[in-house]
Amino acid sequence: MYTLPQNRLSIKHPHYLHTCQPRIVTHVNCAATTTTRRPKTNQVVLEEVQVINTPSPQLNSGRSPIIDDESTLQSTWTHRAWVASGCTSVFVSLAKSIVNSTDANLLLEPVLAGLLGYVLADLGSGVYHWAIDNYGDASTPVFGSQIEAFQGHHKWPWTITRRQFANNLHALARVITFVVVPIDLAINDPVLLSFVAMCSGCIMFSQQFHAWAHGTKSKLPPVVVALQESGVLVSRSQHSAHHRQPYNNNYCIVSGAWNKFLDENMIFEALELVFFFKFGVKPRSWAEPNSDWTEETEAHFPQIM
Ligand SMILES: [Zn+2]
Ligand SMILES: [Zn+2]
Repeated sequence: MYTLPQNRLSIKHPHYLHTCQPRIVTHVNCAATTTTRRPKTNQVVLEEVQVINTPSPQLNSGRSPIIDDESTLQSTWTHRAWVASGCTSVFVSLAKSIVNSTDANLLLEPVLAGLLGYVLADLGSGVYHWAIDNYGDASTPVFGSQIEAFQGHHKWPWTITRRQFANNLHALARVITFVVVPIDLAINDPVLLSFVAMCSGCIMFSQQFHAWAHGTKSKLPPVVVALQESGVLVSRSQHSAHHRQPYNNNYCIVSGAWNKFLDENMIFEALELVFFFKFGVKPRSWAEPNSDWTEETEAHFPQIM
């Protein structure tokens, strides 16, 4: 099968996402003309498209959220309640920091602490993402659902852009609630609270930043594009590298500022070696790219020019 990444276009008709419709499985051989010669990049003819009425066992076994049940992408009231509680806990720490900073005539220290929280949130997102991409499975205690979700994300990354806001954020919002509420109750230091507010807020919204990194530039709000292109939020180009072979880099999804340092210095590779020699556990990224990593979007649906 031959694909032309620079010529990929998505299908505009949403019916292909519906299980009742014939699922189109492409074996797209592109040609410059109707001959079998290898195509030029700007002339593509779909030579062979198989239309199969039965669902794909591979997709069904992998539980694509869109193909199996599109309602899994929608927010429930429980999701919204967790996001509301997470946002409230972050807002309380921020408000307490501002009030207590004002009382203590502090400005520089809380601002710097907030910046540090933002910077370390990016590092934390990378470490967490690396860990759940590479270790454990759906049966792992506590983190099993997150591990399964991130593995599914590598198969069907485009679904994150169709996932509703609270649906995408609720898992992190729940963790933030449990961690930040006790801190809000126990601590009054404005510098520490500033750090907590920025760090926890960025971690909670990292999945939204991640979703934007999968967005199409023309469909994203201009302010989001500006923040991505200025490096405040993880860029689309940087995160797209995470979804390409060898699937072992660009794990950070807040600003992506740590990705270059972590990847160039092979920090995660070093940690993987430590884990392997210490515990005998191989990370998933050591395996040849297989169906666990490979994106099915572009490979299994026709790319129409
Ligand atoms: Zn990943
Ligand atoms: Zn992604």
